[in-house]
Amino acid sequence: RLSPPSRDLTKSNAQFQRAVQRLPLGVSSSFRYWGDDRTVYVARGKGGRTWDIDGNAYVDYRLGYGPAILGYADDRVDAAARKGMEVGGVFALSTERELIVADRIAKMVPAAELVRFSNSGTEAVMAALRLARAHTGREEYLLVEGGYHGLFDAAMWMADMEGWTPGSNGDPEMVPYGKGIPQTVKKLAHLVPMNDLQRLEDTFKQHGDRMAAMLIEPIQGNCCGISARRDYVQLARDLCDRYGVLLIIDEVKTGFRVGKGGIQGLLGIRPDITTFAKAVANGYPIALVAGREDVMRSFRFGGASHGGTYTAHSVSLAAAEECLRILDETPALVTLASYGEALKSGISGILNARGIAHSFSGHASMFGIFFAEEAPDNYRDWKVSDYSFYDRMAYYLHDLGVIVEPDSREPWFMCEAHGTEASCLTDTLKAVELAVDLTL
Ligand code: PMP
Repeated sequence: RLSPPSRDLTKSNAQFQRAVQRLPLGVSSSFRYWGDDRTVYVARGKGGRTWDIDGNAYVDYRLGYGPAILGYADDRVDAAARKGMEVGGVFALSTERELIVADRIAKMVPAAELVRFSNSGTEAVMAALRLARAHTGREEYLLVEGGYHGLFDAAMWMADMEGWTPGSNGDPEMVPYGKGIPQTVKKLAHLVPMNDLQRLEDTFKQHGDRMAAMLIEPIQGNCCGISARRDYVQLARDLCDRYGVLLIIDEVKTGFRVGKGGIQGLLGIRPDITTFAKAVANGYPIALVAGREDVMRSFRFGGASHGGTYTAHSVSLAAAEECLRILDETPALVTLASYGEALKSGISGILNARGIAHSFSGHASMFGIFFAEEAPDNYRDWKVSDYSFYDRMAYYLHDLGVIVEPDSREPWFMCEAHGTEASCLTDTLKAVELAVDLTL
């Protein structure tokens, strides 16, 4: 019988006991709380690895929920950020570098004709929805089940999977993510299951004339990497055109990760508005709203308001310039995607040898592992898969030196450094094999 691994978390546990006195749940984002005796405090990260304050090393597939596309503390980006510091921060005025970065983005993503900077994914999507409302003069909007678009009220509506029975004909109820979100907001939101063409068509027929925007993550970065089929996104594009609705592709997680041109480039579908964040600057806080020129020009006095004290901060902007240069001019994205392929095939080998049905979703650079024969088509499929197997496996992986989200809905994220540090793959596969055997 295998004995479960153990990991010394003495210092993290003591830190938690102190931190919880001052910080709710002892953390600064509720998802970083993993239990009173499992919450980890980080000492530092470098490349594809993180070290906690007890000295435990982890191969890290969370990468801060995706931003560290090159790896933590990348020397090239950090050197650029230091130069950005010398510029002086924020000025309540503009700097020349904004145009340099916007030009690079427009080159990499043709639909990003015009660009505005924000600080976080939440801010960018909030601005994108406002822009769509200002441009169309409409207020309603469409979300896709399993999507996540940030912390603002309009985005915080989800399908209630806990209260839904697989195989039932009814839809899961649309509920807010937690308390504090006014019910009145719900009146403007609509929710459809991913990849159901008929439902999409019906929803547009019923509400399309009143909708400002449809928001979609074609690879759901917060739901196992579930992917939209191309014909689904194409239908969304066509219906948006037919009903005068703006298509917002949320590339906060996929942008500058699944390819230079994002998921829209892989699909060959041009949205009206795109939101980016995460990988833009390898983790320095910066985000973008980008899109069609006539739409983006609705950011004007008398049109949609947009601003923010910290937008286009000199440190983040300098980091973005260098990070995007690397992603555009070097094979970094190819390196990390081939690492993801190697990892997937290693994991598959381990699971196949044990007769465990599984499939992968998403893209090699951000994939979900799904314990069912078929790759999931939508959020409802997640409910019928054996996600408790995943959850138990993730628990052991942490003890074995691999950090993944404890919840199967967050994909595994790859960075360039995983692909260039020889031991990342072997260390991970060793841990996966043991974790699977412990879970069985
Ligand atoms: N959109 C998507 C697709 C995201 O994954 C996230 C964050 N996980 C957001 C928006 C919100 O971004 P942020 O956390 O930077 O506010």
